[in-house]
Amino acid sequence: MRFRVVIGLSNNLSEELTRSIKALSEPELVSILRDAHQPVFRAHQLVKWLYGKHAASYDDMTDLPQTLRTFLEETHPLLPSRLIERQIAADNTRKYLIELADGVRVESVGIPASDRLTVCFSTQAGCAMGCVFCATGNGGFQRNLLPGEMLDQLQIVAEDYGCRVSNAVGMGQGEPFANYDATLGALRLMNSADGLHIGARHITVSTCGIIPMINRFADEPEQFTLAISLHAAIQSTRDQIMPGVRNYPLKALRESLLSYTKKTNRRPTLEYALIAGVNDSDEHLAALIAFCENMLVHVNLISLNSIADSSFKDAGKRRAQLFERTILRAGIEASIRVSRGGDISGACGQLAQEQRHN
Ligand code: SAH
Ligand code: SF4
Repeated sequence: MRFRVVIGLSNNLSEELTRSIKALSEPELVSILRDAHQPVFRAHQLVKWLYGKHAASYDDMTDLPQTLRTFLEETHPLLPSRLIERQIAADNTRKYLIELADGVRVESVGIPASDRLTVCFSTQAGCAMGCVFCATGNGGFQRNLLPGEMLDQLQIVAEDYGCRVSNAVGMGQGEPFANYDATLGALRLMNSADGLHIGARHITVSTCGIIPMINRFADEPEQFTLAISLHAAIQSTRDQIMPGVRNYPLKALRESLLSYTKKTNRRPTLEYALIAGVNDSDEHLAALIAFCENMLVHVNLISLNSIADSSFKDAGKRRAQLFERTILRAGIEASIRVSRGGDISGACGQLAQEQRHN
């Protein structure tokens, strides 16, 4: 059954989605059961069914009383997400197109290693930030995802590989810090012993640099990992390629990161995709080093995925190696991201974009 998206409601959410059980964080799940006069252990059972076992319906939750299942069905429908398309790369990296209950589609990626399964999940359908090199940014914003819709992606990927997810990265479509509360709710359910039980340090969230939310993130008690999409340390270049964060200038971003590292003692990653003729000059390299000076960071140099109808080109391996060498020599941690799933790669958000245009 499809639900119509009612444009105009907050975040383009249909009425059904607003009531969805997947809209709730773990404390909210506890509180609806408390309000329904249920003992605390019922909340643990419910979270386990929803996120530990990925139940498809309340009927599956056989150890919950029938009256409670009926109550939940009526008040908080359980709306499933489903797998639409999957691509498998030669190295067994897999890219998924997942349809949410209202027909909106998002993308996730599974990246297996001998002892790990990392899932890259989306936090929004589309993105409003408009980064010019990003397929998702080029497609515009559809809606925010619910916490449970973020977990659905991890569960669908885990079921496909037949193993548990060990690492989660919020680097799919969307800007997690433009959907902060739902994203935090999701990270906590991923981390929860009743949920997916992934260690907090193995859960990473990546932001284009929404400073007030970085400051909020610094105060969260869990040791989640932070990544920042920097892509330029010269203001005019960043303004041009990441127009959505013009209001959060580099100077303030640096201060916010300094305060984050001081508070948390954790090392954020700075993501830098090298784009030929745009952010790969010696001047950009010097600005990047100056930005990182005296800061606890790891610079991750990424090769640019080419996207349809775009003139942006990857700067190439030699330039990436020169950047890496020079940054390391300045005493700053750096590495070139190993590209996985080359033959299916496509840029972030590309599969969903192609589907929308078909
Ligand atoms: N909105 C968040 C997270 C999703 S994007 C953010 O921007 O951080 C995940 C990562 O992919 C970001 O570092 C983003 O800058 C990068 N990215 C986007 N388009 C890309 C492309 N064409 N090639 C390489 N990396 C890209
Ligand atoms: Fe949005 Fe991140 Fe893409 Fe920028 S890079 S448009 S913030 S998804």
